[in-house]
Amino acid sequence: MKPILPGAAIGVLGSGQLGRMFAIAARQMGYRVHTFSSETDTPTGQVADVEIAASYDDLDAVRRFAQAVQVVTFEFENVPAACVEAAAAFVPVRPGGAALHITQNRLREKTFLVSNGFPTTKFAAVHGVDDLNAAMEKVGYPAIMKTASSGYDGKGQAKVANLEDAVQAFHGCGGQEMIVEGFVDFELEFSMVMARGVDGQFVHWGAIQNRHKHHILDVSFAPARMGQASSARAIEVSRALADKLDLIGVLCIEFFLTRNGEILVNELAPRPHNSGHLTIDASRTSQFEQQLRAVCGLPLGSTEFVGAAAMANLLGDLWYAGEPNWPAACALPDVKLHLYGKIEPRPGRKMGHLTALAATAESAAQIVLLARENLQPVRKPS
Ligand code: AMP
Repeated sequence: MKPILPGAAIGVLGSGQLGRMFAIAARQMGYRVHTFSSETDTPTGQVADVEIAASYDDLDAVRRFAQAVQVVTFEFENVPAACVEAAAAFVPVRPGGAALHITQNRLREKTFLVSNGFPTTKFAAVHGVDDLNAAMEKVGYPAIMKTASSGYDGKGQAKVANLEDAVQAFHGCGGQEMIVEGFVDFELEFSMVMARGVDGQFVHWGAIQNRHKHHILDVSFAPARMGQASSARAIEVSRALADKLDLIGVLCIEFFLTRNGEILVNELAPRPHNSGHLTIDASRTSQFEQQLRAVCGLPLGSTEFVGAAAMANLLGDLWYAGEPNWPAACALPDVKLHLYGKIEPRPGRKMGHLTALAATAESAAQIVLLARENLQPVRKPS
């Protein structure tokens, strides 16, 4: 299969920060970028060559978009299947529709994992309120209930301690299809970000440790503080999963490390991931450049780290007392600032991130947290 060479146009479905960082990597290597979403002046659109604003259901617009590019990828996996099919009639869509289909629905994803022997927590499907009793008996308490589709960053999730909570959570989410998962009392959370090329070449950045706040990723650092055996097992699972999905592109697997050293897959994302943002500054090849190389059929780059690193997300909450103090964060020599060009800083909205490099992951985490603290213009009134 011939590679897609610099000068070609790449289509990105979605227009958020992941598309923006992908577009920056693509333009650096001389590619053109077209982005498609329902909005304008988007994080991706601001740096793309062409920004198309149309509904994902407008299949004629999708066809015109696909005909103007050599390959289509995405930065947002909740793209309707019909949209992907319409694009795939003209150009390759990478990763393909199968990876997208599996990962768009938590029940499909967990079923896929279990039926292929991958380790994950106990789960049960809830299609209606009558399923709750049996589901809870299977999974036990406490449990986590999540909407089967369209949930992200903790939206559509609830921890439940008894049947009453579960009924309430089910109705609270509008009675839509849900998954009940056993609550994992984990030691830590980590992710494996990896890429697989058209020829099956597989690369990864090793385990990246994650800390969440209110179900949203807060801080990531690499290398993760975990033993060699768990780390090796995670790499083995990652490679097998990427092969099973016949992945062309980047995949992130979020894992739990349990207190007895077992690894469990929590979630898959068939695209670059927030926890991999530190690869931009800390690795010879970022997850975004790797996505570009993979979807274009180029050899993948080195994933060697230039140092230990940590990343802290900047949410819209940081703007509560006005514009953050950018010079203060830039004053730390090992800290890099990334902002996504979003105009409105809503609470919980990912506006940007900071990355710090240091000799160890612990010191990188300390530096990046200090830099974020320094961004606050004034102390919050108590
Ligand atoms: P998710 O949207 O599935 O990635 O969940 C967001 C975060 O909620 C995870 O990173 C965990 O911190 C927590 N979480 C999700 N599922 C579980 C579970 N089954 N057990 C314990 N914590 C969970």
